[in-house]
Amino acid sequence: MRLLDSLLNLVLRPNCPLCDRPLEGQELCVACQRRLDDCRQRHPRDQWRGDLPLFAWGTYSGSLKRAIAALKYENNPQLARPLGHRIAEAWQQSPSLPQSLIVVPIPMHPDKQRQRGFNQAERLARYFCDLTGFPLAAKGLKRVKNTQALFQLTPQQRQQTLQNAIALGPAFQRRPPRQPVLLFDDIHTTGSTTQEALAVLKQSQIAVAGVAVLAKTQGRSPGKTPRTPRRT
Ligand SMILES: [Zn+2]
Repeated sequence: MRLLDSLLNLVLRPNCPLCDRPLEGQELCVACQRRLDDCRQRHPRDQWRGDLPLFAWGTYSGSLKRAIAALKYENNPQLARPLGHRIAEAWQQSPSLPQSLIVVPIPMHPDKQRQRGFNQAERLARYFCDLTGFPLAAKGLKRVKNTQALFQLTPQQRQQTLQNAIALGPAFQRRPPRQPVLLFDDIHTTGSTTQEALAVLKQSQIAVAGVAVLAKTQGRSPGKTPRTPRRT
């Protein structure tokens, strides 16, 4: 499939999905790559602490927000490669992170995945594992409830909606992993989805090291531990 994509790209000479300029073989033009890198957090592991440590490559705004929209809603799964690789490079450059992990993407409901054609969290995780060499358990978890979009809901509604939405996947039901799990998602907002995933894994005595995401939203966090962003 990847070979076919590359061949088609050669023939069709696609434009940059973010600015529509002609591309020279990359998934994004040089200018958009630069703008994307401006969204990178200076210290992605700043919140690697507490109950569910968080590693976030960038801030959900500007070009990164645009790139995620292009990936998810404008059918550009090829963007998962440069984005996933960026998370991996930042991970490799950050000191004192765990070295033995198994990566588990936040699952998407099969109906939704059929509509979109792919799960962006899984695609990103795949390219993250490509560079880091961590094993990927794409079906470590599964979505058993097709929930509505969470962003319009209050924290309480989110929690109710997500209850029993995620279950242990067939791979982990057969054999629980020996390494701690690194959960993987595209965007971290309130953390309610990852909290639900954490609860499911904990119930099965599976250790969770933390969560890695491409982008975290700025400002008020209505999650478990509200935190005012420190900006100096
Ligand atoms: Zn561009």
